[in-house]
Amino acid sequence: MIPRSSKVWQGPPWRKALSEAFTRPEALFEYLRLDPSLLPAAKAAAKTFRLRVPRGYARRIRPGDIEDPLLRQILPAAAEFDPQPGFTQDPVGDLAAGSTPGVLHKYQGRALLISTASCAVNCRFCFRRHFPYADARAERDQWATTLKFLAHNPNIDEVILSGGDPLLLDDPKLAGLAARLDRIPHLLRLRVHSRIPIVLPERVCGELLAWMTRSRLTPVMVVHCNHPNELADDVLRALESIRSAGITLLNQSVLLRGVNDRAEVLSELSVKLFDAGVLPYYLHLLDRVQGAAHFDVPEQEARFIYQRLRECLPGYLVPRMVREQAGAAAKVPL
Ligand SMILES: *Cc1c(COP(=O)(O)O)cnc(C)c1O
Ligand code: SF4
Repeated sequence: MIPRSSKVWQGPPWRKALSEAFTRPEALFEYLRLDPSLLPAAKAAAKTFRLRVPRGYARRIRPGDIEDPLLRQILPAAAEFDPQPGFTQDPVGDLAAGSTPGVLHKYQGRALLISTASCAVNCRFCFRRHFPYADARAERDQWATTLKFLAHNPNIDEVILSGGDPLLLDDPKLAGLAARLDRIPHLLRLRVHSRIPIVLPERVCGELLAWMTRSRLTPVMVVHCNHPNELADDVLRALESIRSAGITLLNQSVLLRGVNDRAEVLSELSVKLFDAGVLPYYLHLLDRVQGAAHFDVPEQEARFIYQRLRECLPGYLVPRMVREQAGAAAKVPL
């Protein structure tokens, strides 16, 4: 038998990197030399929301350090089973907003497409951990329903590809979508929301930059980085190449207990991002999703951290602190 590793890989290189991601808690525990007494809880929690961590991301975690801010974001943990009053399965009202499958049209002028079901990494705090993706993907019918919806809503001028992570789709498919969006005359901007440049920088390639910049639509990418340790050299290079292609690059973070709940950490993050051509956009308070209560920073404390952050950064490096509220017409500033 031919060993698996000697087979010739035919897809794009990033698909190979993705296929090698950690999905078994045992393997991650061994790789990071974590305390085995935490493994049973990790396995149980991974049954409710799967473990998924690209190897490149795992390399940025300090082995054996259970407090590592990157580890904390991806490690399935016992705390997910704690009683969590006020934390629900659909905290942001996405299920109510999805009248056209795959399209969330909550805010004036902008439509968000749920392009795909999965992500390159599974973040334990994510509000989408309970979202019934398989039913909602816009890509399911080759975008037909979505494109019809957009064409019939002339008040929409910006399309946001979100997910899941839209960059898990292959470039030819995304290029096809971009070309069809280009032909809807009232659209002006194409925005991509992705955590992939941060967690799987291999994905940022020439083909991706080509379809994002080739069309009439002004391209914007909003990445999702929560901690300066996430900005490894290959990530910085990927961000710089996006910026050099002429794509406006913004970052959103989530304020997370034990990850970035200090002004010094957030400040370092803003400075490093700016060096790589990325402007801070949003700092989200945690969506109150079941299983994520241990990441919550109470509003009072969040305000205090934010005040400190404003004191140590130029105004343009301070992200807007917001909360998502079901039914609100925009993200709600604090
Ligand atoms: C967050 C969000 C947007 C984008 O909001 P901006 O303030 O423009 O970044 C659009 N649609 C939905 C459904 C959202 O949740
Ligand atoms: S949608 Fe974003 S935050 Fe949620 S699991 Fe995917 S990458 Fe993580």
